[in-house]
Amino acid sequence: MGKESISFLGAAQEVGRSSFLLDLPDKIVLDTGLKFGAENQIEQPLPVKTNLNAVILSHAHLDHSGNLPKLFAQAPVLTYLTSPTLDLSNLLWEDSLKIAKHNREHAGFEPDDLFLIKKFSFEVGYKRKLSISPNVQFEFFDAGHILGSAMTKLSVDGKNVLYTGDYNPADTRLHTGADLKIGAVDTVITESTYGDRNHPPRKELEAVFAEDVQNVVDRKGWALIPSFAIGRGQEVIEILRSHGVTADIYYDGMGQKAANVMLKYPQYLRDPKALKKALESVFWVRSGKERKDALKKPCVIVASAGMLQGGPILFYIRKLRLETRSKLFFTGFQAERTAGRKLYETHKLEIDNESLDVAFETVRYEFSAHAQRDDMLKALNKWSPQRAFLVHGDPDVMNTFAEQIKGLGIKPVIPERGKTYKLFG
Ligand SMILES: [Zn+2]
Ligand SMILES: [Zn+2]
Repeated sequence: MGKESISFLGAAQEVGRSSFLLDLPDKIVLDTGLKFGAENQIEQPLPVKTNLNAVILSHAHLDHSGNLPKLFAQAPVLTYLTSPTLDLSNLLWEDSLKIAKHNREHAGFEPDDLFLIKKFSFEVGYKRKLSISPNVQFEFFDAGHILGSAMTKLSVDGKNVLYTGDYNPADTRLHTGADLKIGAVDTVITESTYGDRNHPPRKELEAVFAEDVQNVVDRKGWALIPSFAIGRGQEVIEILRSHGVTADIYYDGMGQKAANVMLKYPQYLRDPKALKKALESVFWVRSGKERKDALKKPCVIVASAGMLQGGPILFYIRKLRLETRSKLFFTGFQAERTAGRKLYETHKLEIDNESLDVAFETVRYEFSAHAQRDDMLKALNKWSPQRAFLVHGDPDVMNTFAEQIKGLGIKPVIPERGKTYKLFG
């Protein structure tokens, strides 16, 4: 009793490579993600040096799921996740293999490891209590972040711990807000991406964004919208069409495959019909020739990757970088040291050891799929834990957030990577 601990393998005072090892004494890993660092170098979480009983994945974004195949390359382990998370993650893992092959590198795992993942995956829906071991039960709750995203509640020896993963209590075009009716818990491991601020009102933001995009095409420029393959790209398209943007929209990259997965799971969407209609109205770029077609006359281009860490968006930026009537719209979080953050701050595109001047304007719209500060504080108050471990945030943001959490009578902990802490106070 009282010996339960948590070790932080990643996402400690950083956004990226989320991974936490619980010792209950069953050994459970919550998420195993990757991080894109300087020059888009991939950074892994710290290695797991014990035999695992289970892995739980919160959602399919690479910073939470990207390292699972490498974990399997060492030894397969029973993995709990929602069905959409498995399908979407699989797309990303297959893409990693493809990229590695293209760059003549080794991905650190083989296609066989992806078969093994399927074999060892246990697909779980929301609000279905399961026993992982005689000692540990767990339950998923809808996190409202992307398709199939989940918050994880674990019960051990009569105590409860909640891992929020990435979550969003507010409704978006694609998803209804997170299900916060989780009950009281003893410890929370919470994301803190926006722990220092609130988001602008979404409806107004959507309207201004749609108008801004249409104006760029009207003045004969290209509206470039780098987007996460999963979630943001599809959402942007739905927003533009819902606000009557009539410009041609070219949709390029991995997001196409993710869109097909999304349409396969209508029960995980807020308005599947609206999404389908919007996606059918855009031009799906499927070849190099079609990619060039998009450059022939001004239009909207929605393409991955969201933080410019690869993907077809780089092709378009290179080609259009001196087109001053064009404009680039960031629609999501730009992590430190990514090409996206650099372009936004310096107007230079740094790829392949080159630094290219970009003449068009860049602008940022915060269509966050993460909770805003006030909503996180409200949620923490509701769950009333004794302690809250802050993860998945920039260090200065975490410090500000921690002060606010103290005000609720909850003890905030800003863990260090590689350190182990008592899970319960
Ligand atoms: Zn995420
Ligand atoms: Zn994340």
